[in-house]
Formats: sequence, C-alpha cells, structure tokens
Amino acid sequence: MSDPTAHTRATTTDVVVVGAGFAGMYALYRFRQRGLSVQVLEAGDDVGGTWYWNRYPGARCDVPSLEYSFGFSEELEQEWDWPEVFSAQPDILRYANHIADRFDLRANIQFETRVIAVEYDESEKLWRLTTDTDRAFVGKYCVMATGCLSVPNKPDLPGAASFEGLELHTGLWPQEPVDLSSKRVGIIGTGSSGVQAIPELAKLAAELIVFQRTPVYTVPANRKGMRDAVQQEFKDNYRRIREMQQANQGGVSNFRPTLNVNRPDVFDPMAPKRNLIKPLTPEQRRTRVEEKGLGEILSFRDVYTDLEANEIANDLYRDVVRTMVTDAEVAERLLPKDYGIGCKRQVLDRDYYATFNRTNVALVDVREEPIQTINPAGIQTVAGQYDLDVLVYATGFDAMTGALLKVNITGRDGRTLEQKWQHGPVAYLGLQMNGFPNLFTVTGPGSPSVLCNMLVAIEQHVNWIGDCIRHLEVNHLGGIEPTPQAELDWIAHVNEVAEGTMFTAPSCNSWYLGANIPGKPRIFMPYVGGYPRYRERCEQVVANDYEGFQFV
Ligand code: NAP
Repeated sequence: MSDPTAHTRATTTDVVVVGAGFAGMYALYRFRQRGLSVQVLEAGDDVGGTWYWNRYPGARCDVPSLEYSFGFSEELEQEWDWPEVFSAQPDILRYANHIADRFDLRANIQFETRVIAVEYDESEKLWRLTTDTDRAFVGKYCVMATGCLSVPNKPDLPGAASFEGLELHTGLWPQEPVDLSSKRVGIIGTGSSGVQAIPELAKLAAELIVFQRTPVYTVPANRKGMRDAVQQEFKDNYRRIREMQQANQGGVSNFRPTLNVNRPDVFDPMAPKRNLIKPLTPEQRRTRVEEKGLGEILSFRDVYTDLEANEIANDLYRDVVRTMVTDAEVAERLLPKDYGIGCKRQVLDRDYYATFNRTNVALVDVREEPIQTINPAGIQTVAGQYDLDVLVYATGFDAMTGALLKVNITGRDGRTLEQKWQHGPVAYLGLQMNGFPNLFTVTGPGSPSVLCNMLVAIEQHVNWIGDCIRHLEVNHLGGIEPTPQAELDWIAHVNEVAEGTMFTAPSCNSWYLGANIPGKPRIFMPYVGGYPRYRERCEQVVANDYEGFQFV
C-alpha cells in the first residue's frame, strides 16, 4: 500500500503519463492539444527513454532515421536533419531533446521521479500514483508510456555482488564517459546490444573477453552518412511516406529516393517477383551473397515460412561466417546452430565478426565452459579464472511486461496486475486491461509494438488513446475498460497469427516469448499479424462504438 498521507500533497491532472520517452512525450503533446491537463512522471533526469538509458558505445537504431521519426508535425519533419542513415544514440537523443524544447514539453514533466505504486481509487474513480519523492499524483486517466525494453535484465549469477571492479549494464550506461583504456573488460551477452558494443569496446579497452551463451545471426548494418539530396527527397515526400508506413507490415515505408540518387538496383525490372532461396542452386545462392553481402540471406521470403528453406539459409550463413573469422575454432563457436534465422529480432552490426580477428579480443563460450561464479577479481568458469577490471552486462531486458509489473499497479477490488498476469499478459489490443478502468498502455503486449517501427506504433496508440479519452469526456462517460471476453478473444487471435511462424518455432527462445527471464510464462507477446491489420482493427473497434470495451 502506498502512503495515504502522500495523497494530501497530490497534484491532480486529467491524465498522468508515466515515462518521458518518445511515447510519453508524444502523449503529453497530443493530450494537451486535446485540451486535457497532463502530468508526465519520469525516473531519469531528462527525456529520451530508451535513448536516454542506452548510451553504451556503439548504440544505434536499426530502423532508418528518416523513418524512425515522428510524423505528427510537418514543421518538425522539415526542420530536423539526420547526419546518418541509421542514427547513433547521441543523435536520436538530440532529436528527443529538440522535440521537448520545440513543443515546450518539459513544463509538464516531473523528472527524477520514479513511480512506485499506481492504485485505482474506486470510490473517486481516479488513479493515484505514489512516487519515490514526497509528491503524489492523481489523474482520472493513467497512461503507461513505460516502453517495451526498459527494465534491464541482470542474470542472477553466483557471487555477482562480490565483483570489485566496475560493473556496467548496456541498458543503464552512465552519462559520464567511462575510461576503458588499459582496462581488461569482460562482456556477457551477444544480443543486439552486445553485438553493437563489442566492436567499440574492443577498440577502447586493452583487452576484451566476450562471454557468449548463444551465438547470434547478425548482418552488416548500413553505415552510410546522410546525403543532402536523399534527405531532401524524403522531406519533399513525407506525406506519401507516412501513408506508406501506415500500409506496411512493420510501419516502414521503404521509400527509396529516385530523383537525386543513382540506384539502379532498387527498381531493377528484372528482379524476381518472389525472392525464394529454395529454387536456387547452391552456386546461385553463394553468388547472390558474394555480390550483395551477408544481409542478402534475409531477403528470401521463404526463409521465414519454410523450415527447409530456413535451414538452407542457416547453412549458407554459417559457410560465409567461416570465411570471415581467421581462427577456425573461434569461427565455429560463433556459429548459431540450434535455432534459425527469423526466430529472434534481427541483429545488425558493424564489424562484429572482424572484431574476433583482433589480438586483444577473446571469446569464451559459456555453454562449453559455464560460469561458476563471479568473484572480486572477475569471472571463474569451469575452465579457469578471467580477471577483469570492468564487467559489462549486455543481458537484455525484462521485455514488454517488465516495466508494467514493476510499478505495482492495483486495479478494481484490490486486484494487482501481477495477479492478473500471473500466467502471462492478458490485455485487449495491447491498450487496456479489464479491471483497470481508464488505465492505458502505449504499445502494450498484444499490439505490434516491437515488431513495428516504434515511432509509428507510438503515434497510432497515443492518437487512439487521446481520441478515446475525448470520447469519454465529450459524452460524459465515467470510464472505459475491455470486457473479459474481448481480452480472451484478442489473445486467442494474437496466438493464432503467431503460430507457424519462425518466432514460435519450438527451437526458438527469445525475449518476445519471455524466454530470457527465468520463470516468466512462455507466451508470444507482440502482435505478429502486421501493423495495417492491427490499425484497421483498432479503427473498426471505434467505428463499432468501442466494440469489446464497456463504459463504466
Ligand atoms: P537480448 O537480445 O535479450 O540479448 C541478451 C544477451 O545476453 C543474449 O546473448 C543472452 O544469451 C545473454 N545472456 C542473458 N543472460 C545470460 C546469462 N545468464 N549468461 C550468459 N549470457 C546471458 O538483449 P539486447 O541485446 O539488449 O537486445 C534486446 C532488444 O533490444 C533487441 O532485440 C532489440 O529489439 C533492442 N535493441 C535494438 C538495438 C538496435 O536498434 N540496433 C540495439 C540494442 C537493443 P541467450 O541468448 O543465451 O539468452
């Protein structure tokens, strides 16, 4: 229970938004525009969410920046310039700061304020939020803009607390620069964060030891600087591009500049209509990869739907990696063997495999050589001791549900979200939960969220929530929540569309399934049916007078 006296010092607004990442910032902008009073609460000391916390060397986005940008303001689109095609974390954080300044958002954001309890006051029909400060906040509506990948996962390794060197997590990287020169650095984890950090840490540290449990499929990222002509063509076509995003499965327009850039390969009239790997001969497959690079393997459509095609692609991938790593034993350890391409979020890298050819980098396979304990000096495996000055955890996040469960949400009749979700997340459209009236989740479980361009997903969700609140206000409706049946039907649909995809293959263990957190129910959490289908469903629900919801 929260401290009841705190309520006496409570600030009341129409809406309380938790989180000042892109979702919280846009919610504040949009709801204010809708005439609502809004208070945003943020644990960090500035805006940016995931881009505020993930400052590790090498952090960058895997969606092109001209696409990973907001479409709600034409002025914003026109005035902002991206320096690279795929931006690095500092540039994305600068963009977040620009938005905060430009739209005067900071005035309604309370920084350094961590929410520790969110409770529904049934008699008043209000949400009461307790924080780790002496202030509490009350709102008729509560919007959780807490992000999908915001609670860092640190595995419970024996002796971890005894380590006397510097301990870091990629998802909680310090703001001040970390001097790694002359340091022996160890890193645990080879997911997207580890794969991005490893080449950079190898350059900064005297020695780098990579502790790998599961090898990763990773392909080289586009590392082009932004050309003015390309940026201009995007700006000239932004309205069309936003429409194309709305019609694309992953919320990405795939718009290709044509006027100012000579790119004959993009509109090749001879390009095969259905790009499949299976019908090609082994030589043809090799030639395609030699000509177009390792990432070409990902372009074959059958790789994601046909297990035989998937295995052909996996073999081809492994053959190419063997040619990239000088030490054959190291190469063999780096090859993913017991799951297929497409099961996990695709990882993009800059010089990942080449990094293992450096003399100051070593690879430890913790499946062959399990970690026994962490001790004051470093890591002890069954094969020996690795002394370290710095230990970096690149061990991911308690994804999608972690941040929502962490803030202790209690709904009607004292029922907690933890109780409701004990067997996995139960929600309608990833927007709301029965028993939690007027509490909304931005990109919650059961919505496309992490399978979509996040900024597109955020805009759609925030717009939907803003319109819903407006509907309630204009029609003097007290509140809204989904019916239990609508939740069950939606979950059945979410599971049905995920079935038969590589995401849910029995060999697949990903954070999408909660498989990275011991004891977490194994459920495929994001909606894989595609962003347009999902968006249309949300629109249809509204057109049918909020079908599946009840006004309370
Ligand atoms: P992740 O994909 O969950 O990877 C975590 C890594 O830590 C895995 O290699 C995992 O091994 C390892 N690990 C966890 N517990 C371990 C243990 N006890 N012992 C040894 N190894 C352990 O996390 P992430 O790399 O932070 O990425 C998460 C998501 O964030 C990505 O999928 C992506 O969506 C997003 N992200 C995106 C970007 C980008 O835009 N480029 C960059 C970073 C992150 P196992 O596989 O064996 O569990």
